[in-house]
Amino acid sequence: MPFTKLGLYSSIVRAVQAKGYGEPTPIQQQAIPAVLTRRDLIASAQTGTGKTAAFALPILNRLGPHEATGPRVLVLEPTRELAAQVDEAFREFGQFTDLRTALVHGGVGFGKQRAALRKGSDIVVATVGRLLDLLRERALTLDHLQVLVLDEVDRMLDMGFIEGVKTIVSLCPHKRQTLFFSATLPPQIEEVARFALRDPQRIAIGRARSVTESVTHAMYPVSQGLKFQLLLALLEKTEFKSVIVFTRTKHGADKIAAQLKEAGHSVTLLHGNRSQGQRRDALAGFKEGRYEVLVATDIAARGIDIEGVSHVINYDIPLSPDDYVHRIGRTGRAAAEGDAFTLFTPRERDEVKAIERFIRAEIPQLKLKGFDYRATPAEPVREHAHHPRKQPGATAERTRGPQSGAAPRENRPEKKRHEQSKSASQSQPAGRPHPKGKPGAHWMAKHPAGSSPRKPGSPRGRR
Ligand code: AMP
Repeated sequence: MPFTKLGLYSSIVRAVQAKGYGEPTPIQQQAIPAVLTRRDLIASAQTGTGKTAAFALPILNRLGPHEATGPRVLVLEPTRELAAQVDEAFREFGQFTDLRTALVHGGVGFGKQRAALRKGSDIVVATVGRLLDLLRERALTLDHLQVLVLDEVDRMLDMGFIEGVKTIVSLCPHKRQTLFFSATLPPQIEEVARFALRDPQRIAIGRARSVTESVTHAMYPVSQGLKFQLLLALLEKTEFKSVIVFTRTKHGADKIAAQLKEAGHSVTLLHGNRSQGQRRDALAGFKEGRYEVLVATDIAARGIDIEGVSHVINYDIPLSPDDYVHRIGRTGRAAAEGDAFTLFTPRERDEVKAIERFIRAEIPQLKLKGFDYRATPAEPVREHAHHPRKQPGATAERTRGPQSGAAPRENRPEKKRHEQSKSASQSQPAGRPHPKGKPGAHWMAKHPAGSSPRKPGSPRGRR
């Protein structure tokens, strides 16, 4: 069904076409007509499915022209980056209307945000803490609110924002439309939904636990002392456009970023200890292609939309299987192909199993061909403490990190461009036999038959 058949005004459809969208995604097909009925909605959808447009388009459609009453729409987001991204989407989709949006988040001064609110905004996209501050000082009121969007509610729960969310909900008019988006809907989330919604329609897209179908996964077992060398070798032998390397800790991210820079990669860094300006520059620079590698903690894993991320490398295995799904959701967004590699040490086998159980699929374990797994670590091995596994839904940015060896000179990336054709076909299955899956064409181009990591979902992981 094309966008023109969804009941949207031509000014909105034009903006969608200007964005280059062809067909609506499944969540858009279901949610747009549902939101247009003005009923409350609970949608569980996996990351990268197009859920921003699924709520932004029908909301813009119902607003009509600008009104100076104060915000009629409030969108709550768990992180500043997500808020900025959603604000940008509203601006783009509303470019042929006269509607005004304001972005409200912490980490920056209050001045501009107060000024934007004073001028009169139809739509406010906000993070919880700063919005509460501005509500307290009466820089805005929610008296004229018509639509409340609670986005990534599971993440807000993880980050401890739920009480703030409830306070904000209680300040909204009783008569309103509330839209509730969450990747997973455990009982605590259902409780928040009961608090905020009335007789909601429910939409579920895919399995809440499923990973993006267009991502190919592989696990790389390696000893702690050789992890960094393996990361360098993977980067060298993989034809990547842009890659996000995830670490568990801020300290670990700093260290890996510094070592990758030293090895000649163009690298930027995103984690919670960086200032808002640094975080903004890191994302902008990575999106513009000024940096080929973004080293990040899980703060970047949720919802951040960066076009063309070809690879995600989990330098540290995520603490919760939930985080695994979100991290690898950074690649393969909107059905573009992407690869996700995860390095793990022998002590982390249980974590690997937990991820496989969670996504209900086996992930192939590979060894990188040509990599010397018996090499002496360049630096004495200091095993990081074995952290107890987090339950899905919990979150953390830890402050202690893994230790890793220095970059071997022969792996310097000057060689990389010449070796691109070798790509990840250097990988060989390790340990387990491969299931007889039908790998994606993208992977086939790089992997000779028999060495293809299989996408969860086929065949054992198929529903
Ligand atoms: P979201 O899940 O909203 O973060 O969207 C993920 C990515 O998919 C973003 O880059 C969107 O611009 C893109 N996208 C959303 N809807 C469509 C569509 N109908 N066609 C193509 N790309 C889309």
